[in-house]
Amino acid sequence: MALMTGEEYLKSIKARKPMDIWFRGEKITDPSGHPALKPSLETIMTIYDLGHHPKFREMLVVKSHLTGKECNLYTSPLMSREDAMQKTRVARSLAEVLGCCTFRCTGSEAISGLYPLTYDMDKALGTDYHERFKKWLMNVQEKDLTITAALTDVKGDRKLKPEHQKDKDMYLRVVEKRDDGIVIRGAKINQTGVLFGHEFVIVPTAAMTEEGKAYAVSCAVPADTPGVSYALGRTPFDQRMMGDEYDNIDIGKKYGDHQATLICDDIFVPNERVFMCEEWEFTPLLIEFFTAVHRLTAGACKSGGVSLLTGATKVVADSINVGKISHIRSKLAEMGITAETLYALSLSAGVEGFKHESGAWIPNSLLAHAAKYQATIMPHNIVRYVREIMSGTGETFPAARDLLDSGISEKLRKYLAPAKEGMTPEDRLRVYRLAENMARGSNWSAMAIHGGGNTEAARLMAYRHMNLDKLAKLAEVACGIDDNDELAADLISERHGKIDWDPKIFKVKAK
Ligand SMILES: Cc1cc2nc3c(=O)[nH]c(=O)nc-3n(C[C@H](O)[C@H](O)[C@H](O)COP(=O)(O)OP(=O)(O)OC[C@H]3O[C@@H](n4cnc5c(N)ncnc54)[C@H](O)[C@@H]3O)c2cc1C
Repeated sequence: MALMTGEEYLKSIKARKPMDIWFRGEKITDPSGHPALKPSLETIMTIYDLGHHPKFREMLVVKSHLTGKECNLYTSPLMSREDAMQKTRVARSLAEVLGCCTFRCTGSEAISGLYPLTYDMDKALGTDYHERFKKWLMNVQEKDLTITAALTDVKGDRKLKPEHQKDKDMYLRVVEKRDDGIVIRGAKINQTGVLFGHEFVIVPTAAMTEEGKAYAVSCAVPADTPGVSYALGRTPFDQRMMGDEYDNIDIGKKYGDHQATLICDDIFVPNERVFMCEEWEFTPLLIEFFTAVHRLTAGACKSGGVSLLTGATKVVADSINVGKISHIRSKLAEMGITAETLYALSLSAGVEGFKHESGAWIPNSLLAHAAKYQATIMPHNIVRYVREIMSGTGETFPAARDLLDSGISEKLRKYLAPAKEGMTPEDRLRVYRLAENMARGSNWSAMAIHGGGNTEAARLMAYRHMNLDKLAKLAEVACGIDDNDELAADLISERHGKIDWDPKIFKVKAK
């Protein structure tokens, strides 16, 4: 089957079995027809259509190393430095189009993580996970499916390990092993795009111990599997989504994403879809492989979002004729620098990666975590500037209906008219709404902090990858405590060889 268009994708989603989806006390029988999910549907259909767009096709379509046929970049693991660079460019470019999540990234990162991981597991344990995984992946590529990654468990008491929780279901786990498969139970929160995915891939949220081996599970589950329930999350904008065409203008853009809570109530998963079951020793490595790609993307997609927000802020500033004033110019410059810094960090994480024995390309973890860490911080400085420059008006602008089609429209259009020649009051409203959407109305800034792990998680992972002993030695040579210049030269030149990556740092303690 060829790569799907948006319409073909829609047909495939409508063909799913009835799903148990809830929002505001009501069951959503057809997610593709529900107004609260309309911007999400626009997003995912556009992602499919861009695969056929002459300007995007080259970025989004790759050759499968498994079949030699064309497949979507999101269904292929990273196999080379060029793949990693392309993934970075795609993440940035699509964020510039959408100003939100693409939904297909997390799944592609689970694919990039599980490919080398299953290879390593088979080599060490004599299992057949890698062949299973490849077979599953070929079907995903052939059908051009959207896969999302389900990591974040509800976690209950954060100071207790999964196996020590009062309620043992606070982390998703295997509750039964059968000859032909496993039964899983648990919940995953903040699941982006999951209602429009064909399948989700369970990945453990943290490293597991031997005692908690039931929680060391990874498997692929069709989103419409009976027994899986979903609760769609609220956003400050969902009432606007469910309103009329004027309310829709107040959303600020046609694209959006969604997050849902996903509950697996004793779901049977056949063996051919299981990629890890109780191999707790390999959970740190899976997280390592996954985050190296996921956090590279997190930096790149935030860079695209920051670019879009910078453009919106420029139009906002021009609408009141402050766009060329010096402090505004320097803030716009800082916004632009932020976008490029995040992009550069992500790109270099891809460039300075290494080739895994399986053939997969693993980005440089330290740089990927550095990109993610900055992505949790820098976009928030930008949001501060946007909100300063839109000066409250962005937050308090009257409704589109009042401006465009009500008893007060004429007065509002006079008093809220932009200072810029040729710009209409509606244009002004639209761009303020776009800035408002990204700066406070949607989950964009929350995703900057949390998507792919929060600030502390990124800092901790970066710390683990830093070689502080090496840095200390360099300082000792530089200040003359140690006069071994050759040792310093050796240490410095190591950067050009082996990457800052060492599985030994992820040894799991028994308790
Ligand atoms: C918009 C959005 C989209 C997302 N999309 C996805 C997705 O598609 N798939 C997915 O799986 N996840 C997704 N996430 C989840 C995201 O990865 C998590 O929200 C993020 O990793 C932080 O969650 P947490 O569970 O670590 O936070 P929590 O555990 O709730 O932590 C809350 C606070 O407590 C601190 N804390 C927690 N435990 C400890 C501890 N033991 N020691 C010290 N401090 C601690 C944390 O650092 C943090 O400050 C998304 C999140 C958001 C906001």
